[in-house]
Amino acid sequence: MQIKSGAYGTMEIARLTGMMTRIACGALCLAGVLAGELAGLGMSGFPTAMAASATKPLLAFSARIAGDRDRTRIVLDFEEKPEFSIHYIAAPDRVVIDLPATAFGFPPEQLAPRGLFRDIRYGTMGEGSARIVLTAIKPVKLALAETQPNENGGFRLVLDAETTTSSDFANLVRSQSWAADTVDPSAPVALEDGARDSVFTVAVDAGHGGIDAGATATVSKTPEKVITLGFAHLLADKLNKLPGVKAFLTREDDTFLSLSERVSVARQHHADLFISLHADTLSQKDIRGATVYTLSDKASDRMAENLAARENLSDELAGFTIQSGPPEVADILLDLARRETQAFSIALADTVVKSFDGQVGLINNPHRQAGFQVLRAPDIPSVLLELGFLSNPEDEKLLLDETWRNRIADLLTSAVDRYRARSLANGG
Ligand SMILES: [Zn+2]
Repeated sequence: MQIKSGAYGTMEIARLTGMMTRIACGALCLAGVLAGELAGLGMSGFPTAMAASATKPLLAFSARIAGDRDRTRIVLDFEEKPEFSIHYIAAPDRVVIDLPATAFGFPPEQLAPRGLFRDIRYGTMGEGSARIVLTAIKPVKLALAETQPNENGGFRLVLDAETTTSSDFANLVRSQSWAADTVDPSAPVALEDGARDSVFTVAVDAGHGGIDAGATATVSKTPEKVITLGFAHLLADKLNKLPGVKAFLTREDDTFLSLSERVSVARQHHADLFISLHADTLSQKDIRGATVYTLSDKASDRMAENLAARENLSDELAGFTIQSGPPEVADILLDLARRETQAFSIALADTVVKSFDGQVGLINNPHRQAGFQVLRAPDIPSVLLELGFLSNPEDEKLLLDETWRNRIADLLTSAVDRYRARSLANGG
């Protein structure tokens, strides 16, 4: 038995600092993404000028899974030997394998869930790191986790999982030390009391990313994270053309960000507005059109409640240890700020709905409410926009159509402009 652990602390910190530098970097980051994608296609000779923290990703070029509900073996083939660390997370029981930056170049069906695992996810966690999350059907442990050289070059990572008792699993979870390194979303938030600058800053948040692909389009199988990122770039470009407005993206590439990190990034930038972009799926395939959501602990309806519950799973699916929750701060000023922010969020949502009306398909009651974690900034008016539903083929066509996307981005831009004009008229 050979299990390495303890590497998480440095990786987590590297990821967080990487996140901050990524926001500031442009062309170089793009080069890194391109290098990653080319490596994913097997073109590993792409030259890159990236710093050591973002060197050429490892290539996992094939994978296989075998076994049953007592023992399950997973093997991944790499071009080079991967360093890795293993962690366990409870409720639901998960095994997390952290890797350096890795391009997963094999078809998804090679690692379809089976045996002891009911869900398997893998992808980028941040610059320089990738992760595999195995969600188990019952308590498991890795009896073997090691790299072995392949006969014809390269290395394979072999993971043998077997069932274990609940108490043994709980011990595995308890005996590891990584909780101190993760972001603590319950840390008290300090409200800014200094005057904000005159620039109106908009945080554009592309939903999902990295290991969390979001929903999948019915026909084209395009992942939601790709659609939201493309639209976020388009929207930010248009917003940046408005005088006095500065828009930035919470993520600029295919990277995972936890829900609380999205809020933190917006607050660090002193954002005046936060717009989270999504295109989810519903079990009712005939429902289509855009919806604007604002935060409320009581959902406006069942559909909104289910959607928020699914969105809030993002951190869990990516193997985050701490459940994001609202900051528990008993502060009357913060409470007042929250209420004021809420009023502005509702005003923003109404402005967006008005600008879409008659121009873009909207669902019935297009302004809805639910407990979305990503909308919990106490001092930034926030909305979550479902651009359409990937479960509906007509919506999917629109979401992938450049003309439609340009039109909806223009309407959103003018809604933001109108909202801003009104807030300036009211004294900012
Ligand atoms: Zn989504």
